Amino acid sequence: MAKGKSQYCTWFCKECNRANYVTYYDKKRNDEIVKELSKFCPSCRKHVDHKRKDTKKGNG
Ligand SMILES: [Zn+2]
Repeated sequence: MAKGKSQYCTWFCKECNRANYVTYYDKKRNDEIVKELSKFCPSCRKHVDHKRKDTKKGNG
């Protein structure tokens, strides 16, 4: 079923809900995945907690 492709995830600012970052990871290493990260939001102009949302690269 699933191929060994990387999983993409987008990070949304918790305050303005803006998608600021996109990262990807190997599915085999999902023990390192965190749900929240404190990142700089250019819209809020400060460090804000970002929530993760998984996105798959749909290439057919
Ligand atoms: Zn923000």
